[in-house]
Amino acid sequence: MSDTPDNAPSGGCPDAVTLAAYLDGMLTGPELARLDAHIAQCPQCARDVAELREIIAASAQAPGNDDLVGQAVAAARGLVRK
Ligand SMILES: [Zn+2]
Repeated sequence: MSDTPDNAPSGGCPDAVTLAAYLDGMLTGPELARLDAHIAQCPQCARDVAELREIIAASAQAPGNDDLVGQAVAAARGLVRK
């Protein structure tokens, strides 16, 4: 549990699971604030979040689909693997 005073995004990118949780509204408090701050200053994560958001939005329109987080995680892993 340490503050992250540096604003250099390198090395501090959240993993796919964290991004998916962030988009699913599962993060709270300091964790959420940290993600918000990081995404605001990290173009790579901002882009990944935007893509994941589109995937989740599209999935939400498909009835009977309850595995949005799982799909988002899978999608995020695809993004970070490149
Ligand atoms: Zn990042």
